[in-house]
Amino acid sequence: MQGLMQDWPLTCNRIIDHAAVQFGGHKVITRSVEGPIVETTYRGIRQRALKVAQRLVKEGIKSGDRVGTLAWNTARHLESWYGILGAGAVYHTVNPRLFPEQIVYIVNHAEDRLMLADLTFVPMLEQIADKLPTIERYVILTDGKHMPATKLKNAVAYEDWIAEVDGDFSWVKVDENDAAGMCYTSGTTGRPKGVVYSHRSNMLQAFATAMPDVFSISSNDVILPVVPLFHANSWSLAFSAPMNGASLVMPGAKLDGASTYELLDTYKVTATAGVPTVWLALLDHMEKHDLKLPHLKLAFIGGSACPRSMIEKFQDKYNVLVRHAWGMTEMSPVGTAGHLKPHVAKFEREKRLDVQEKQGFSLFGVEMKITDDNGNELPWDGKTFGRLKVRGGTVARSYFKGEGGEILDAEGFFDTGDVATIDEHGYMKITDRSKDVIKSGGEWISSIEIENIAVGHPDVAEAAVIGVSHPKWDERPLLIVVPKKDKKIGKTEMLEFLRGKIAKWWMPDDVIFVNEIPHTATGKILKTALREQFRSYRLPSAAE
Ligand code: AMP
Repeated sequence: MQGLMQDWPLTCNRIIDHAAVQFGGHKVITRSVEGPIVETTYRGIRQRALKVAQRLVKEGIKSGDRVGTLAWNTARHLESWYGILGAGAVYHTVNPRLFPEQIVYIVNHAEDRLMLADLTFVPMLEQIADKLPTIERYVILTDGKHMPATKLKNAVAYEDWIAEVDGDFSWVKVDENDAAGMCYTSGTTGRPKGVVYSHRSNMLQAFATAMPDVFSISSNDVILPVVPLFHANSWSLAFSAPMNGASLVMPGAKLDGASTYELLDTYKVTATAGVPTVWLALLDHMEKHDLKLPHLKLAFIGGSACPRSMIEKFQDKYNVLVRHAWGMTEMSPVGTAGHLKPHVAKFEREKRLDVQEKQGFSLFGVEMKITDDNGNELPWDGKTFGRLKVRGGTVARSYFKGEGGEILDAEGFFDTGDVATIDEHGYMKITDRSKDVIKSGGEWISSIEIENIAVGHPDVAEAAVIGVSHPKWDERPLLIVVPKKDKKIGKTEMLEFLRGKIAKWWMPDDVIFVNEIPHTATGKILKTALREQFRSYRLPSAAE
């Protein structure tokens, strides 16, 4: 027997329709790429998205065609997304922090037909444009007044381009399982691979992430997504914020501590989201200038491990609750979030922080398990490490054009490439990427755990731990430290700082101080490059 309810496809255009009807006057504030801070509303975003969709159809864009965007978090970028998916096409967010050769690769692989780009990226595009044969036109996200002279093919200022239509348009009809968007993995190993989100998966992720134990989004909120739209749907905020009527403050190209603080403070932002590096800069700025953020209630932190010292500072000094979260491009992207369940919230302070340092429990719609190398499930005891695998309606089942082949196990779980423990309360803790875990004497050492403790040292700006080959133990940990500006730390002092905080046999065999650590396009430490750099490094212990 079938249910007798209406068929109401979960298509993303419904989100902006709802936002315009119920929260039409709620603001979207942007630090524009041109400089000034500009304001619009959800009603405005929808009206202009309709124009984008109409203009794309006029341009000959058909259902399923890919339209690239190379842009910061701005209202124009947001309305472009809704316009693209509203035309039945697929937004393809290109991460501008990728190397130009990677951008060439992914734009060609996605076969993007148009490219909507911020002014910032015009010079870079000019350098690679002759290698991008599928792009028929470049639309620069600015007005005629700021439009630069450029030889980019059929280049036009966005405002002039959409002014050619009147916005009297209806969204192109799509199926909820049709593709809405695309984002390539950052490609730390091998070529980037395309993850293709459907309207339905985006919608499910928006429902799931807006829930109280995850991002807890309401129409009372003002949210500043520092996490970019080009980094996996800005953790769904492009959908979950308008769906729930939360106002948005878009930071544009300026993500330094002072600029972020200015927006958080001026617009009384209540919740924000981003990777730990951004918060280091913000906290640094606030401490230096003795500033406060009385309106900010929640910082959603993920993308890489959030250090305990950061959680403590936000909560104790600034009264901002930290919710540590984990996810990946292949998961739309949020998979777990670290709300404290009621019995856990009763733990004493240090134990509570231990839980907050973990990446949290799975959202509704995501199942997880840990297995050994043979696929046998491992216990949820908070100690046993295993390969972390996930299944659900917001998880990829394959990559674009079948790259990478079959990616699911026999039970339909996707191997995240992360190594994790899960405790008896359901909280998952990432201990490593499977390729970064240090294998010492047949046992595994978590590089992330040591890094997290090392960055708690007041003079350490950044730390990375890699496995270096060792004649007796196979691999031993090497700690690489970037001291804070004008600070000097000694090797013995650094090791003393770690002693007692980690198991004895996890203690790094050596410490090296450097000025800089290489990063990926999404701000993660590029361990492959570090391992390459220190491939022939001889640990003092290797001579013993
Ligand atoms: P991306 O697809 O670029 O977002 O990268 C996803 C990867 O980032 C995950 O597989 C993890 O290795 C890492 N990651 C994301 N969030 C966290 C977190 N909170 N703690 C540690 N690693 C994380």
